[in-house]
Amino acid sequence: MARELTHFVGGKNVAGTSGKFGDVYDPNTGVVQAKVPLASKSEVEAVIANAAEAQLEWAKWNPQKRARVLMKFVALVNDNVEELAALLSSEHGKTVPDAKGDIQRGIEVIEFAIGIPHLLKGEYTESAGTGIDVYSMRQPLGVVAGITPFNFPAMIPLWKAGPALACGNAFILKPSERDPSVPLRLAELFLEAGLPAGVFNVVNGDKEAVDALLHDPRVKAVGFVGSTPIAQYIYETATANGKRAQCFGGAKNHAIVMPDADLDDTADQLIGAGYGSAGQRCMAISVAVPVGKDTADRLVAKLTERVHKLNVGKSDEKGVDFGPLVSAEAVKRVNDYVQIAIDEGATVVVDGRAQKIDGGDEGFFTGATLLDDVTKDMKVYKEEIFGPVLQIVRAHDFEEALALPTDHEYGNGVAIFTRDGDTARDFATRVQVGMVGINVPIPVPIAYHTFGGWKASGFGDLNQHGPDSIRFYTKTKTVTQRWPGGGIKENADHFVIPTMD
Ligand code: NAD
Repeated sequence: MARELTHFVGGKNVAGTSGKFGDVYDPNTGVVQAKVPLASKSEVEAVIANAAEAQLEWAKWNPQKRARVLMKFVALVNDNVEELAALLSSEHGKTVPDAKGDIQRGIEVIEFAIGIPHLLKGEYTESAGTGIDVYSMRQPLGVVAGITPFNFPAMIPLWKAGPALACGNAFILKPSERDPSVPLRLAELFLEAGLPAGVFNVVNGDKEAVDALLHDPRVKAVGFVGSTPIAQYIYETATANGKRAQCFGGAKNHAIVMPDADLDDTADQLIGAGYGSAGQRCMAISVAVPVGKDTADRLVAKLTERVHKLNVGKSDEKGVDFGPLVSAEAVKRVNDYVQIAIDEGATVVVDGRAQKIDGGDEGFFTGATLLDDVTKDMKVYKEEIFGPVLQIVRAHDFEEALALPTDHEYGNGVAIFTRDGDTARDFATRVQVGMVGINVPIPVPIAYHTFGGWKASGFGDLNQHGPDSIRFYTKTKTVTQRWPGGGIKENADHFVIPTMD
């Protein structure tokens, strides 16, 4: 019998009352392991009311006291990491070591947010005019919401919640309905760490729940991560309703491989970046662009050899490189794209659909596919596949290679492999993509820098985590004060707009 999950509201697990449920699968076996309640509009409104009340008290806690809760939370997550990683892996299908990485990258942003006493310090100008001082302070927005994707069920909720909570906001998380159990456990750990009830809430749901968050005036900001069409919808709806929004979308990340690159190391890096987590990462490399025929031929040979050695299997088995995809629909989508590539004239060097996988008949498996001779007019190049498919687009020279990610609709991440500093610098300066790796295939910035893609990969003007997150989750208030003891401006005309001369 599939267990019934809950929401987490006001410090408690709360059963759903809408009567609507979604299926949570074990992607290794294809079996429904849990039922997740999908909240109605009125259930979401009740969560918002609860969060709004809790936020008023939370905002009064001094920043250092708030930081102590986050410190305790980090310790609790670390104490429970084995259980959390196993749970994450069982719903998502990523391997257990990869699930630990998902949790660790989330923790790193909480650790950044622990610096909140320093991060929230305002600005001060003494004697900006005669007897006048000016200072600014950052205040929380109130209730904020995070709507997150299936592919990082720990990391992305924590990227959003950490800075939001540290700034004194209450947070409502609407996680992916495909793998909601880790977010629910994180809510319990926040409570155990001393976070007051109602400050961090999880409401499970689908479009109805999301729309309720987007239309309620008590929700002041929305952070989203997911596919581009939904990112755009959420950005447009949230901002039309007067909210702040930062919405991150899909990707097509290129790796340019220059003739002088260390090709063995590059091939190793590309295999991990292309097929890790079955390609279900927004920063996965999905297109390799070798420059020159000789580089391309040598790279394809090295990749082919490595792809044949990949160990695809159940996510909890030792030594597995990647596990199943998240759903049967995802497998169909990926396999359909491989067929489209063949129909469009790409060369299938390795066809993952043909790979025999232990237990593969029941679980949501597909193997690693390597495509060569992909061109920029092909559908498989233009669209995000989000699966274990690495494409080779051959470029004649550096300029042609640079133009590919620059002109692509998406602009999340990109990498260049070279030993030449001038080429690398030129590339990093000119490429029209938000995050660049130089001999680094997955350039996810560290927590105290910011994360964000360009073009169709990101809507909004502030990035996630790092200093931008503090700006996003606070509003600035600027105070101009004058006390008579500081001096009076002689001959002031009180009918003229005050100036600071
Ligand atoms: P998704 O867009 O299907 O879902 C994301 C969230 O939106 C979920 O919580 C889902 O319940 C909700 N949602 C789905 N349809 C909705 C609708 N019609 N109205 C309102 N809400 C809706 O994305 P996914 O499949 O969970 O995640 C994979 C996608 O996320 C990929 O495109 C990937 O590139 C992207 N992604 C981007 C980043 C980034 O930082 N740019 C990071 C991770 C994942």
